[in-house]
Amino acid sequence: MAAPQQRLFGTNGVRFVPGVSHDLDFVIGLSEAVGTYFASGEVLVGRDGRLSGQAVSNAVVSGLLSSGRDVAEAGLVPTPALQYAVKALGFRGGVMVTASHNPAKYNGVKVSGSDGVEVPRLDEQKIEKIFYDKSQTKADWKTVGVARQEASVVRAYQKGVLSKVNAKAVAERKFTVVMDLGNGAQSVAAPYIVESLGCKLITLNSVVDGTFPGRGPEPTPDTLKDLSAAVRSVGADLGVAYDGDGDRSIFCDESGAVLWGDQSGCLVADFVLEKNPGNTLVTSVASTQAIEAIAKKHNARVLRTKVGAVEIARTIIERNAIFGFEENGGCIYQPHISVRDGAMTTALMLECLANRGMSFSKALAFVVPKYHQAKAKVEVNPKKTEAALKAAEKQAKGEFEIEKVDGVKIWMDKHSWVLIRASGTEPIVRVFSESETQDGADQLVRKFAKIVKTASA
Ligand code: MG
Repeated sequence: MAAPQQRLFGTNGVRFVPGVSHDLDFVIGLSEAVGTYFASGEVLVGRDGRLSGQAVSNAVVSGLLSSGRDVAEAGLVPTPALQYAVKALGFRGGVMVTASHNPAKYNGVKVSGSDGVEVPRLDEQKIEKIFYDKSQTKADWKTVGVARQEASVVRAYQKGVLSKVNAKAVAERKFTVVMDLGNGAQSVAAPYIVESLGCKLITLNSVVDGTFPGRGPEPTPDTLKDLSAAVRSVGADLGVAYDGDGDRSIFCDESGAVLWGDQSGCLVADFVLEKNPGNTLVTSVASTQAIEAIAKKHNARVLRTKVGAVEIARTIIERNAIFGFEENGGCIYQPHISVRDGAMTTALMLECLANRGMSFSKALAFVVPKYHQAKAKVEVNPKKTEAALKAAEKQAKGEFEIEKVDGVKIWMDKHSWVLIRASGTEPIVRVFSESETQDGADQLVRKFAKIVKTASA
């Protein structure tokens, strides 16, 4: 059991190792707090394909029922499918049992409001307060909730995604797509969507398996070598891979080159803005400056947030923005729902490429200005994190522009920046940089990693 005052919610929901860091009693108590927070109505509960998914999900359902909430069980679904169904089918809220891209032993609980979007940070704290104060509502024999199955979640989600793109225009291009499902939850939804768009589909790791035997639950350039090879060997137009719960998508072009989410996000953003000029985009301080150039072309604005999908999603809602993305491959298309969605992003990418009428690599070179990035992480003495950030900031010497949205971002010149930010969960300071040359980006990261290391020793 967690000690009092310890934060339960991290960057993206509550994460734990079932039976090791936390037991199912914890999950029941937490879910009673969630049910108390919702106060009324029916809550939709789903899970990804993890081995502990059924056990944790049953505990979530028990906790919600015990607080008096009614429950609809969606079973195994991608996170964005659950979130979309909460909004589209009119639930009071949703609880997704998932640890996203984390290794197999983890699981977690993610809470969405009636709009399907993760509840705001302040509401996470309300749930934590109910949990620690032990002020959960305890229903008696006549107010206890009832549970039922809800079988229409995946179908509603697929129809929702397909309704947001020009299916005919995509089908005319007769794309060949290789999809690496990573044994994750999109296996039950994304293949049907891509086939419905008239694509020839080849799937890898498409059997849901909570041990993630294929390539692990996190899609990265290192783990997607099979996807690249398959794209090349069948001469596909593109490849796409999802994380364990299907909210993030990473693409590779027709040559098998795997792209970071920044690049694919910029390409889709350009297409979305072309159809909606003058609109607003949202991304974190850590993603590429290429997006400002793209936005300018379409008379659009870019809002920069702290790192984290919840910040981006909530800013999209508050500022009525149309699209948002993260460098890890999470894209949010507001007309669908303001959450990250791997299958929605895939459908938009296909429509974008159909519209551009050129290969993926050509479209990318044509649309997205090329910048180079570098990253490092420095282990720090947690008591000296603040000193490390101060030391980095001092380097600006009043000469360079500083942004303090999340950590310290220093613009060294018009096209070079370095971002120094402390991790929310580990004793680590991350250093990111971007520049017009790889050498420039590498040098910046080396310089600032050293400053952080010295100041935090
Ligand atoms: Mg995820």
